[in-house]
Amino acid sequence: MKKILIVGGVAGGATAATRLRRLNEKDNIIMFEKGKHISFANCGLPYHIGGVIHRREDLLLQTPESFRSRYNIDVRINSEVLSINPISKKISVKNLLTLEQYDETYDKLILAPGAAPIVPAMEGSTLDNVLTLRNIDDMDRIKQYINLNNAKSAAIVGGGFIGLEMAENLKKAGLKVSIIEMSKQLMAVLDPEMAEDVHRYIEQTGITLYLGNGLSKIEKNENKLKITLSNGTLEEDMLILAIGVRPETAFIKDSGLSLNERGGIIVNKYMQTSDPDIFAVGDAVQVNDFISGKPVMVPLAGPANKQARIAADNINGIPSEYKGSQGSAIIKIFDMTAAVTGLNEKTASSLNLNYDKIYLWLNDHAGYYPGSKPMSIKVIFDKENGKILGAQIVGFKGVDKRCDVLAVAIRAGMTAKELKELELCYSPPFSSAKDPVNMAAYVIENVMTGKIRNFHWHDVDSLPRDDSVILLDVREKLEYEEGHIEGFINIALDNLREAINGLDKKKTVYVNCHSGIRSYTAARILSQNGFNVFNLSGGYRLYKAARLRI
Ligand code: FAD
Repeated sequence: MKKILIVGGVAGGATAATRLRRLNEKDNIIMFEKGKHISFANCGLPYHIGGVIHRREDLLLQTPESFRSRYNIDVRINSEVLSINPISKKISVKNLLTLEQYDETYDKLILAPGAAPIVPAMEGSTLDNVLTLRNIDDMDRIKQYINLNNAKSAAIVGGGFIGLEMAENLKKAGLKVSIIEMSKQLMAVLDPEMAEDVHRYIEQTGITLYLGNGLSKIEKNENKLKITLSNGTLEEDMLILAIGVRPETAFIKDSGLSLNERGGIIVNKYMQTSDPDIFAVGDAVQVNDFISGKPVMVPLAGPANKQARIAADNINGIPSEYKGSQGSAIIKIFDMTAAVTGLNEKTASSLNLNYDKIYLWLNDHAGYYPGSKPMSIKVIFDKENGKILGAQIVGFKGVDKRCDVLAVAIRAGMTAKELKELELCYSPPFSSAKDPVNMAAYVIENVMTGKIRNFHWHDVDSLPRDDSVILLDVREKLEYEEGHIEGFINIALDNLREAINGLDKKKTVYVNCHSGIRSYTAARILSQNGFNVFNLSGGYRLYKAARLRI
């Protein structure tokens, strides 16, 4: 019989505990959680605030009692682990109710302490209406503050996943909402041009965005907060800090275990720390990026759960390896969905990878079946072999499944050629016979085989505006008249073959349409007629969106 201790009783800790029990009925398993609750649905917390998940108890997936009766696991809530001594194989625990302190020995130890919201060391950050969201208590505090003080407005600092989910849900709870974000874009996981659809959509919902504007001071002004930004001031009833998380590993600092500069616990592929009897999982660990192999910290529930199972397996002699995180993540923002997997361009470029990219703007299902909506897709691929390295999709319906298929493609090391061959489910309410994922592969294949040469939204402004090139917009006249890129002339695609003789073959042609599909056909016509031609990937739509703020 082994004695296994677990620090942390939510995503990673609770998953490890139950897997350990299912693998071994005899082991003595004790799980310590400093909070009042275990195994609660952190990811559901914003939705209770917004009233979407009505019953608070639906978020409490397990209780210490249910863990005891179903899994025979000794759960100690209100129990903070203060330190670890790997030499004597002991941890020191404080009962936060009785203040009693005691030691507990272990044969194996699993650390799953997660990561806590970052609170800037700034005047006003500890006021009672400056709040963060990590657990049930935080959620209750936010709800209570709104109800007891009849709060009518909130500012959220931080435009990441939690910030945006809170924005939606506070709006649903009836508050006027603003988002303050220091960088020029929301959702740092997206490349800036892909974030622009998110910005415009959020603004349409009535939420005010303060982008490129940092928080510098918070003051209490009677019941209100005076929030000073690097540019301007706001007056709001409450403020939510959602500026990221930091591994909650202060109690490990003196243990001698290897930590990175952010306090992240360094583990190997078996989820073992620098001490072979101590494993660590979840938001507090440093793992490798699945694609680049570089060290990363990925605070997401899926990786935490997988790592917990792997740690439990290895403790029970079942060889199991964590092969890295690829950062697959998704968010609902009212009716919009944004999803990412693998590397974005910012990272691919910072790593000097030999990558290329394509953009698509395609309907989620057949246009002739009611209700179809377009989604904006960006795929990053290896220029050399066509391997899919990353994808970002922003749209409404069907974003999740496309991003999941691309996540699988990345995990399987698939190339565009293989992606092209995927046979995906189709009928008009769900997709098109050429699914957006297959379409992405077709476009990459066209790029890689030289059938199409792209230029991008960021190349447009530096193209010559003189007689040395032909800048050609192949949309219909009406579309062109409603707005076009400066210097581009209009010949609608359907008139191009007639007009081609009037174009000078010695000049390079840069062609655009709305989304890049008609201009692709135009580019093929032109290149087969002897022109040197480049197609604007993502079209005028993406150029216009990107140019708004970038
Ligand atoms: P946690 O689940 O945070 O658990 C760690 C526990 O350890 C905590 O309860 C903490 O109190 C306890 N602890 C810490 N130190 C000690 C100590 N010294 N002694 C005893 N106990 C200790 N991820 C997604 O993938 N998708 C989502 O949609 C999503 N939404 C989220 C929404 C919100 C509001 C939040 C807060 C997170 C969300 N996440 C989401 C992230 C996800 O919840 C985390 O990645 C996941 O919970 C990490 O699991 P963990 O076990 O490492 O840490």
